[in-house]
Amino acid sequence: MDQEEDAYEAEAAEREAEPQASDEFPCDQCGASMTWSPDTDSLSCAFCGNSRELLRSDETIVERALGDAESAERGLGVDLRVAECDTCGARVSFEGHTTADCCVYCGSANVLAQEANRRAIRPESLVPLDVGKQEVEQNFRKWIQGLWFRPNALKQVKRFEAVGIYVPFWTFDARVHSDWSAQSGTYYYVTEHYTTQVNGKSVRRSRQVRKTRWRPAWGQRDDCHNDHLVLGAKGQPGDLVRELGEFQLNGLVPYQPGYLAGWRAEEYSIDLEAAWALGQKQIAEIQRQRCSADVPGDTQSNLRVQNTLSDVRWKHILLPIWSLQYRFSGEVYTVLIHGQTGEVVGKAPYSWVKILLLILAVVVVGLVAVLLSQGA
Ligand SMILES: [Zn+2]
Ligand SMILES: [Zn+2]
Repeated sequence: MDQEEDAYEAEAAEREAEPQASDEFPCDQCGASMTWSPDTDSLSCAFCGNSRELLRSDETIVERALGDAESAERGLGVDLRVAECDTCGARVSFEGHTTADCCVYCGSANVLAQEANRRAIRPESLVPLDVGKQEVEQNFRKWIQGLWFRPNALKQVKRFEAVGIYVPFWTFDARVHSDWSAQSGTYYYVTEHYTTQVNGKSVRRSRQVRKTRWRPAWGQRDDCHNDHLVLGAKGQPGDLVRELGEFQLNGLVPYQPGYLAGWRAEEYSIDLEAAWALGQKQIAEIQRQRCSADVPGDTQSNLRVQNTLSDVRWKHILLPIWSLQYRFSGEVYTVLIHGQTGEVVGKAPYSWVKILLLILAVVVVGLVAVLLSQGA
């Protein structure tokens, strides 16, 4: 046991009343491993049907000041191994007695089993998975059958596997004072006279021409950003995560290792500092848009915004998604399903034959219309 592990053990001993600090949640009736069930909102045993409520801890969810990462707890509170994907960089936990065979996001077999990072900041809270496996599979079927211009065989796709994953996010609260300056433009119209040739004769005509009158403008505004979300992982396709839509953060409950029982959790690969750098950029962009909307007039240029941030607080949270992979014509496709709403986003192959047929049909209809109009 090395020093780091010693320190970890000491830390674990300090958090005495934490019975979940093992990688197993044994059933008190039959001893099998229990898993957390989104359907019953409790730990449940697949073997004997026993279930146990996870006591919602009364702790309030802490948001910390930026400089205060040291006092945050570390590790996930369960002994986990993670599979690190060489292809997409995801670090996703898997249960001790299974093996990590391929990446849950990109399907790559290039994965390496490692110890979970015990020094990683522990999530402060999480939104428990609300959508169960059955609903995920139903929603996936509905989604794939509702797609247009896909190969017929795709709708019968049978081989797919869905995995529920807690994805790491950072949230930031901040007050922002923004001072802005810009050139504000107001449109006005002048009548211009010009000469043109009509049937070989010169004719005087007039037209309205739009001009812009520029004036300097400036102002300031104060805004509060609450729970600004920054994705803490690099593995999953980020564009798909954004397409999934919003998460209802009022569903956040204080973190307990029990929620992870039977589920995967992704480790953050973007740390607090890097996430805050991203968050600041995103907040600055939002402020820029707000200031831009404040500039009077019809148009604007040279907008400059100076932001002063204060009262910055952060927390590390986990949000639930499902990653579903299916194979079609030898390729692996990844679909993500929102763990709260069941919304499905993902990629699927096109049928070029169907698209060509549609183009042909449009051309034929066009030709017929032309012929009919000439005949009339
Ligand atoms: Zn049992
Ligand atoms: Zn991968």
